[in-house]
Amino acid sequence: MTGPVQNVPFSPAAPYKFCPADGTRLEAPRPSGGATCPLCGRSWYRNSAPAVGAVIVRDGRALVTVRAIEPEKGRIDLPGGFLEVGEHPADGLVREVKEELGVEAKVLGNPVLLATHTYGEDGNWVLAIGFRVRLKDENIHPTDDVAEIKWVSLEELDSLDFAWEHDKRLVRAALENGDGGS
Ligand SMILES: [Zn+2]
Repeated sequence: MTGPVQNVPFSPAAPYKFCPADGTRLEAPRPSGGATCPLCGRSWYRNSAPAVGAVIVRDGRALVTVRAIEPEKGRIDLPGGFLEVGEHPADGLVREVKEELGVEAKVLGNPVLLATHTYGEDGNWVLAIGFRVRLKDENIHPTDDVAEIKWVSLEELDSLDFAWEHDKRLVRAALENGDGGS
């Protein structure tokens, strides 16, 4: 960054204007939403970004985190994050849990929740995928973007300020089922 950041409007859903391969201005988008580059012929689409979240239940309580960073700093979240390019969702979640909690984790079974929501000031679209997760180690060391962890009961859920409503639903379902997969 060489100067002050300027306030440039950006639509989270509008087609891209320039080709990521060569920077040429793209043609007007087709009804499908794809926009073609007149130079290289590639078509470009906007998509939701996939993100994974972990529901971890132990002794009738679920692990939630307090966000240390924007967006939604200070609000309640679940361990997890955005997938890297080409990364399997389960592998990405193990990586994120290790990064945020400092422990190895095992993903249990199939995804338990799929939701779409917006993220950040631009309202970028996210596809959220939830998994039940078991921690292999109880020595949790919250790192980088986690301010604090809490083990919460079903009765406490409604008093917690979740950044994303679907995460609360995911935790509620896990606590009501009482299995947590462990
Ligand atoms: Zn191009």
